Amino acid sequence: MIASSTRCIDAFCIVQTQQLGSFLPVMASCQAFTSFASSRIRFALYRRSWSRLSAPSRRTFVAKATEYLPAYADYNDSQSTVRSSIAKICSRFPEKYWLDIDNAARWPSEFQEAVAKDGWLGIMMPSEYGGSELGLAEATVMTQTIAESGGGYTASSCVHMNIFGLAPVVKYGNEEQRKRFLTPLIEGKERACFAVTEPNTGLDTLKLQSLATRDGDHYSLKGSKIWTSTAQVAEKILILVRTTPLEEVKKPTEGLTLFYTDLDRSQVSVTEIKKMGRAAVDTNSLYFDGWRVPVQDRIGNEGDGFKMIMHGMNAERILLSGEAVGIGYAALRHASNYARERIVFGRPIGKNQAVAHPLAKAWCQLESTRLMIMQAAKMWDEGFATGEYANAVKYLAGENAFTACETAVCSMGGMGYAKECHVERFLREVITPRLAPVSREMCLNYIAEKVMDQPRSY
Ligand SMILES: Cc1cc2nc3c(=O)[nH]c(=O)nc-3n(C[C@H](O)[C@H](O)[C@H](O)COP(=O)(O)OP(=O)(O)OC[C@H]3O[C@@H](n4cnc5c(N)ncnc54)[C@H](O)[C@@H]3O)c2cc1C
Repeated sequence: MIASSTRCIDAFCIVQTQQLGSFLPVMASCQAFTSFASSRIRFALYRRSWSRLSAPSRRTFVAKATEYLPAYADYNDSQSTVRSSIAKICSRFPEKYWLDIDNAARWPSEFQEAVAKDGWLGIMMPSEYGGSELGLAEATVMTQTIAESGGGYTASSCVHMNIFGLAPVVKYGNEEQRKRFLTPLIEGKERACFAVTEPNTGLDTLKLQSLATRDGDHYSLKGSKIWTSTAQVAEKILILVRTTPLEEVKKPTEGLTLFYTDLDRSQVSVTEIKKMGRAAVDTNSLYFDGWRVPVQDRIGNEGDGFKMIMHGMNAERILLSGEAVGIGYAALRHASNYARERIVFGRPIGKNQAVAHPLAKAWCQLESTRLMIMQAAKMWDEGFATGEYANAVKYLAGENAFTACETAVCSMGGMGYAKECHVERFLREVITPRLAPVSREMCLNYIAEKVMDQPRSY
């Protein structure tokens, strides 16, 4: 059993192998995994030659919630490799790092650079721009692992926009744009933020009011955005605005246009919104009036922006569900270690079923959600329309991860409320997956309409 103080992937490998009775081969595998991830080129080579390499030792059962970053029996070789390699990077950023980052509200640049250095920001990007062209399933394993390592939503959300946010550019951008935009993003030289939500329209995206007016080889943008995450640090912004006012279009899905451009703070006012959790990864209000954006930064045709922004939304929901589940596992790991070791009334508190059963139930809920997330990701990778699954996992992940974190805090009594024990940070962060990028109510609206065949409620 791994104690909470020995949290690193090497320790995990040792425990795993001791249980399997084969110490050396798996340590070798772990080292091989991490060296493969040391550069994009080697990783790509690895992908092609994987079948010739020996597979890692595998557990035949799903590991205990008290262990650090267990392997999962359902992962294929590629997913297991992603898990091990990302865990190795994360082991350099212990929970104390994330506690300090949260307390200081400081952007985790060291972590973001470490992930970028090994090429992981391009996990789903085309190889000609430096990406690895792996699937959503692997990307979800990556974001879950980052959150689960103890970095929580802070760690995952300092990189997730770079991983999936530019899906519209990959699909609808021209060759010149893909080269100009994707390569620096994958290399970690440029960071992107994503501006869709507006103060007056909320979830009703088709009512967006910000307007871009063509003026020769530029557009002039006027309007506002809210909740734009990472706008304090991002060099680039993906922004959806109207080029035709709502009153003048035949269908509300028309007249919206997408731009990927410089976030020029001399033309855009960026004001941070202080919030409950994830203090290190900022979220902001934006105001602009006369912001000049070059025509060559428009993605695809004028008026087609809604279709483009919709592309990748299911993927985003699945990917972020993985993060939520990761936070839930991190919380359960702390709580189950604590419940086993904390003695009150002369016995471990975990001996009381009032403490043990909620933990067990939370694990059941998280694990069933994780399996469904992997199924949803697999379906997306295979080209199936996954709206029902994407919304279902987004809903389940938000709810079950929240329950896991709340259970963890309550299981640990007063220490659950102490910052040094981390679970209060997870509880503050795990509210977000219930609200964003789409709320739990809207996930259920979708399923009620599309699966249960009920009248649309909005
Ligand atoms: C930490 C954080 C980071 C974010 N980052 C970004 C970002 O980077 N970029 C970006 O564009 N946005 C971002 N968002 C915004 C996020 O996507 C929105 O908060 C979310 O889409 C909900 O919009 P809203 O807050 O305006 O809620 P509203 O639209 O005002 O809705 C309020 C509540 O009413 C409910 N509701 C509304 N209509 C219905 C209905 N018909 N049926 C049932 N319930 C309904 C909603 O579910 C919600 O609970 C972020 C939000 C947060 C909290």
